[in-house]
Amino acid sequence: MLDVKRKIHPLLSEHRATIDRQRWTFVPAAETREILAGLAVSQAAMDEIGVLSDLLRSDPTLPFRAASNGRFCTDFGTRQAYRTEDQLFVLTAEEDFHRFDSGQLRVFDPLEARLCANAAFQGLLTINAFILATLKPRHRPLLDYTSDQWITTVFDLRTITTPELIGEPALEGVHSDGVDLSMTTFLSRNNMRRDSGITDVHEMAQVNGVRWDEIDPQYRVGTAQHWETLDILIVVDHEKKHSVSPLWAEDPTQRATRDVLTFFSRKPTVEGHVSYDHDSRLPHESLPCQVDVSIVRDPWCT
Ligand code: FE
Repeated sequence: MLDVKRKIHPLLSEHRATIDRQRWTFVPAAETREILAGLAVSQAAMDEIGVLSDLLRSDPTLPFRAASNGRFCTDFGTRQAYRTEDQLFVLTAEEDFHRFDSGQLRVFDPLEARLCANAAFQGLLTINAFILATLKPRHRPLLDYTSDQWITTVFDLRTITTPELIGEPALEGVHSDGVDLSMTTFLSRNNMRRDSGITDVHEMAQVNGVRWDEIDPQYRVGTAQHWETLDILIVVDHEKKHSVSPLWAEDPTQRATRDVLTFFSRKPTVEGHVSYDHDSRLPHESLPCQVDVSIVRDPWCT
């Protein structure tokens, strides 16, 4: 568990200032490790989080992926982030997500309990809360921006490339993820070619659904690559779009994998939103997880 001697590292404050200014930032793994160490996370926990995806089984719609997810509520009223009961998941074209399974209700395996118990994971929830605490995003329709709660869906995602099938971290091409903030953390790679999994960040004028290699360069505002365990890309999701290049195998005769954890955060929905019936804030009974985020000191809620 995290102890009471935690502090927010100045590097994290700098990244929050960068997000305020340019609406995205990339935190290299070495900086993430300093930030997590400031939150009293051990190096052992940081190393362990990189290898926790081996139990992932399958994905409800994608043949080249294995996935699980879990829902969390960050409540600045109680200053706690806690795991909520499992929910169905849906993303629609109206939320800038254009894929064959847009609008489909998807059921994922529940996020592993040992991942939620990992101190680095809990530190990442705290980093996420620190960014959310002062975030003033461009509003999406049918979200309650008066709430002092945020809903975060965490995905543990493994993209898999085999000699028969190329894995696509973002088959949907240029997109947004239907939320206010996306935070993608790299866990590990195996047999991953050096030009794989490169993320471009785009202005909203970039057309949705365009393949990563067909984007209009005039709308590209940045490029980042997740390569080391705990590299983090943070994007204000309704203000910048993104696309990701495929996973190519260094040795094409062998399987390749790329594991990431995504934290998709948005305000709670109101009636009429496609996710309104899947937005429970009841705690998870059998897989509880609670993180004290009072260190974040949200200026809106004190
Ligand atoms: Fe995405």
